[in-house]
Amino acid sequence: MGGGFAITMTPALPMSPAERHAQLVREIDAHNYRYYVLDDPLISDAAFDALLRELRALEDEHPDLVTPDSPTQRVGGEARTSVTQVRHAVRMMSLDNAYSPEELAEFHRRVVEGLPDGEAPRFCVEPKLDGASVEVVYERGRLVQASTRGDGETGEDITPNVRTIKSLPLRIAHPGRLTIRGEVVIYRRDLEALNAEREAGGLEPFANPRNAAAGAVRMLDPREVARRPLRVLLYQVVEAAEIAATQHESLAWLEEHGLPTHRRHTVVDWDGVQGAIDAIDRARDGYPFETDGAVIKIDSLRHQDVLGMTSKFPKWAMAYKFAAEQARTKLLDIVVQVGRTGALTPVAALEPTPLAGTTVSRATLHNADVVAALDARKGDYVFIQKAGEVIPQVVGVDTEARRGHPARFRMPEACPVCGTPVVRDLKDAEKPELGLEAATRCPNRACPEQVKQRIFYFARRFAMDVDHLGTALVEQLVDGGIVRDVADLYALSAERVADLERMGDKSAQNVVASIARSRERTLDRLLCGLGIPQIGQVAARQLAEEAGTLEQLLAWTPEQAREHVYAIRGFGPKMVESVVAFVQDPEQRALLAKLQELGVGRPQPRAQVASEGPLVGASFCVTGVLSRKRDDVHADIRAAGGEVHDSVKRTTTYLVAGDKTGKSKLDQARKYGTKVITEAQLGELLRGGGQG
Ligand code: AMP
Ligand code: ZN
Repeated sequence: MGGGFAITMTPALPMSPAERHAQLVREIDAHNYRYYVLDDPLISDAAFDALLRELRALEDEHPDLVTPDSPTQRVGGEARTSVTQVRHAVRMMSLDNAYSPEELAEFHRRVVEGLPDGEAPRFCVEPKLDGASVEVVYERGRLVQASTRGDGETGEDITPNVRTIKSLPLRIAHPGRLTIRGEVVIYRRDLEALNAEREAGGLEPFANPRNAAAGAVRMLDPREVARRPLRVLLYQVVEAAEIAATQHESLAWLEEHGLPTHRRHTVVDWDGVQGAIDAIDRARDGYPFETDGAVIKIDSLRHQDVLGMTSKFPKWAMAYKFAAEQARTKLLDIVVQVGRTGALTPVAALEPTPLAGTTVSRATLHNADVVAALDARKGDYVFIQKAGEVIPQVVGVDTEARRGHPARFRMPEACPVCGTPVVRDLKDAEKPELGLEAATRCPNRACPEQVKQRIFYFARRFAMDVDHLGTALVEQLVDGGIVRDVADLYALSAERVADLERMGDKSAQNVVASIARSRERTLDRLLCGLGIPQIGQVAARQLAEEAGTLEQLLAWTPEQAREHVYAIRGFGPKMVESVVAFVQDPEQRALLAKLQELGVGRPQPRAQVASEGPLVGASFCVTGVLSRKRDDVHADIRAAGGEVHDSVKRTTTYLVAGDKTGKSKLDQARKYGTKVITEAQLGELLRGGGQG
């Protein structure tokens, strides 16, 4: 591995602050590379955080040591207020498309014609990454500029946003000016986590990684961008002749310099091109990123030069697009659902049809604008597709197959559940960059459907984790006026529940016991369950740690709330405003006070990991039945400097396996090389018995 990415161990000799600073910067860069580019971290998240903390402390003490390429400087301060244009030195072209082997053969014919007699080109076949294109420029080894493609001639300056992408080094070992192009993407697994977080914060999940990535690169506030798990995968060096003779060598050069590439290309003769394309098509489900086709490039840069370009495309490359898997089915109805925030969402009720491995009977239509753009009407035959392989979506209407004159869909003027006149939220419509469109909502917070949805949400695993709260039960509780908000759940008696239809004594007791147990959840879980806009699981935990208790949260004046929340790391202005609005809202305050009186929500422990102790640098996942409560074991581990993981991750050092440890945990441990130990062995380690 070149580019100064060797990881050095901290020597015992004392160092000057400047030397230590340089060393920390190198180490952190190297760990970022292992983590984000190679996907193969060497140290735990906690050990990494410790390095970053040390660097921050050092820079606080010696501000003169801070350089723009320090890892602490990735997220620059202020939001942009305007957009600066950047002229591309070499035009960013799009690619000519082929959809069939015939069109591909045609491409080959033109290539052979354009090259000197007898020269048979080789081809570099790569995945076509589905994200947003960027150009980055390094000068004297420093990342100095990043821009969007724009119209090809000029793009937008997005340097502060791209600097937040940790897989992209801020420094490289190359003295000259270097312009590189690539794609900003979000890995599928990262999108799942991001969507869970958004959902927990009451935001609409992204339909696919591309939308999430494309929206993020142009956002005005780099702090918001830093919250999105963006990555860059580079695929082209502009004017690469300086560093290589072929496309595949220029990709290798990028890798050697610690720059992220897709690492999925093959070099073949013409005979091998179709096979290489098919191989990518078969393998792409297993790639971490979305791939919507293959790009076939002439490998030799000299050949590329000879062929040149048209006004739109390079003549030496071709994109081969894969067809997304689609199905055609009947749209039985468009039903309008009311969500927990009152948002009205049109949903397609479909004749059940198989699609990419599952049977689909519902698909989201997002909002009225989407339905209007599709012009989907009841009884139509529609095409559906899985967006980012998660949520099925209606992508088109087979208008030829329409019979008669079905009415156009219209959003109802009143809530279909409570009859309250709806409101159109125009403020969302003005922010297309957030992926939000005009939302229609029922403004009645007491709307029975909203109350039901809030209860289901409150009960979810990541929030208060209440079992046995089924649909039939919640409907009876809310429709019968027995429960008006989540706090009322805690006043339910088993007798009252047993009186309801289809509820036996046993299930009534189960549900009431499960509700009672949820009183013990910590404040972060409670805040999560209340669904504060913009605040997901991680943010809820930070907020809970800042407040400590529900009392304290309620005691804050608006000024204090703003001050406290503003100080939380990573909280942007929107999050601050959302929390301040939430704690000042009279209805929310009343609910919080009611919950406090009912004794719901434990004080939030500060999850301090000790910086010294026998377990520093080690991480643990504790599972199975132990002689003590799991929380107590966690506390002991943290007090000894160890880190606690909820599940066995690649970076977990030890799995502490109690009785009845699940097979899946053990399998994970085997997969990641995590050492499996007993509770007694953990005791040894805690007493300083040495890790090994
Ligand atoms: P299109 O926008 O459909 O004309 O396709 C051209 C775009 O494909 C380029 O601007 C790139 O953003 C993108 N692209 C994705 N993967 C690659 C790749 N491996 N090589 C070149 N371009 C790519
Ligand atoms: Zn309503």
